[in-house]
Amino acid sequence: MFINGEWIELEKQFAVTNPATGEQLGKVSDGGQQEAHQAIQAAHEAFQSWSKTTAYARSAILYKAYQLMMERKQALGELMTREQGKPLKAALNEVQYGADFFLWFAEEAKRVYGETIPSARANQRFLVRYEPVGVVGAITPWNYPISMITRKVGPAIAAGCTIVLKPAESTPLCAKAIFEILEEAGLPAGVANLVTALDPRPIGTEFCTNPLVRKITFTGSTAVGKKLAQDAAPQLKRVSMELGGHAPFIVYEDANPEYAAKGASLVKFLNTGQACISPNRIFVHRNIMDKFVETFSQRVNKMMVGNGMEKGVAIGPLINETAVSKMENQVQDALGKGATLHNGGQRLVENGLEKGHFYAPTLLSNINPDMVIYREETFGPIAGIIPFDDNDDVIAMANDTQYGLAAYIYTQNLSKAMHTFEALNFGIVGINDINPTSAAAPFGGMKESGLGREGAREGLVEYLETKLGGFAI
Ligand code: ADP
Repeated sequence: MFINGEWIELEKQFAVTNPATGEQLGKVSDGGQQEAHQAIQAAHEAFQSWSKTTAYARSAILYKAYQLMMERKQALGELMTREQGKPLKAALNEVQYGADFFLWFAEEAKRVYGETIPSARANQRFLVRYEPVGVVGAITPWNYPISMITRKVGPAIAAGCTIVLKPAESTPLCAKAIFEILEEAGLPAGVANLVTALDPRPIGTEFCTNPLVRKITFTGSTAVGKKLAQDAAPQLKRVSMELGGHAPFIVYEDANPEYAAKGASLVKFLNTGQACISPNRIFVHRNIMDKFVETFSQRVNKMMVGNGMEKGVAIGPLINETAVSKMENQVQDALGKGATLHNGGQRLVENGLEKGHFYAPTLLSNINPDMVIYREETFGPIAGIIPFDDNDDVIAMANDTQYGLAAYIYTQNLSKAMHTFEALNFGIVGINDINPTSAAAPFGGMKESGLGREGAREGLVEYLETKLGGFAI
């Protein structure tokens, strides 16, 4: 753990394992409420001077951290593959995406402009300035174990906030590597603190109840996000929530079914389906269904499953056994209710895969609303295809979920693209685009997918308070 500029090791520790092999990668301290309390205290003390530094000084540290991430890209990528499981190429992409947030916020730090507002009174001047909110409590998930950290720590530092981070219990080593970089980049003691823990609950409780914490930022499941938001409510702490998704992927009749199937198969199996923006309901017009399914299925056949360190592997392990069981349940339920299986449909336990948490990339068609997979976020390598006939119906079906994070549309018709873009109740919409994300673009969901946005200009505003001065002159 990294508290007040010092690396601390507790006697009580927990093991970190490789989800592809079961091999133990290391141990980290098992912190609790007391350590979270200490870290918050340190962050509070550091805030007094850090919040008064210039944006230029903060920007320089973030830029240095960006450079160090770039220098260590390969090592960080390999660490991520061993700890989280994603194929090395995907891990390297994530390190780049993660570093992009430090670079973006190093730039944005200098552009927190205030405002003067004309008054109706001749002898009055209005002045608006933005100030850092204070100490931030951050909780991050394991699926993107570096970029979800830099996406919170970057803007916090840029804004002049101080922060205490609790990373996911499955991926604390990636968090540690980022904090080593922040230390080397010259971040003063107490500005960013790392508390690792096997049981996240006492840390969440301390974040929500300690009055020194002014903001909670969380990425993870909707259930935990709601609990944290409720627990933070009595003190009216500011909250940012990036929660679950249930992304629709709409392929209209005029789309090229082969091109759309290529896109769907790439984005669906990214990170073994363990992404909140992963397509979870693939709606395909009935008239192009056969070609779409055929292309999709051929592509799935060619996907190599295995340890992400091996060349050519496209699908890594799931994070743990619970995730594998969830896949088994969703597939069994769908097949029992009439779905058609084209690929996969079982856990993989041969050729060394038995030591890890592997599930075959799976393609199901004829999914209907009675199936669990139609409603529940999959978070794994199962693609479910639903036929549709009517364009208005498909928009209603796409919106028929409590989630509202990402959605995808394939069409060659501009007016249909625009109409659908406007009609979908989702925070991120990819139009013939399977990667509508960037450090420069606002990421976040509507409805039960969350509150607030990360990245972009908006990602910095989340860490700022607005202060108005009315000057009578
Ligand atoms: P997932 O199911 O994808 O692991 P979670 O929401 O359970 O998603 O986990 C995301 C992050 O939230 C992790 O860092 C985890 O430790 C943390 N977390 C889980 N439960 C709680 C809780 N009750 N209070 C605070 N943090 C929690």
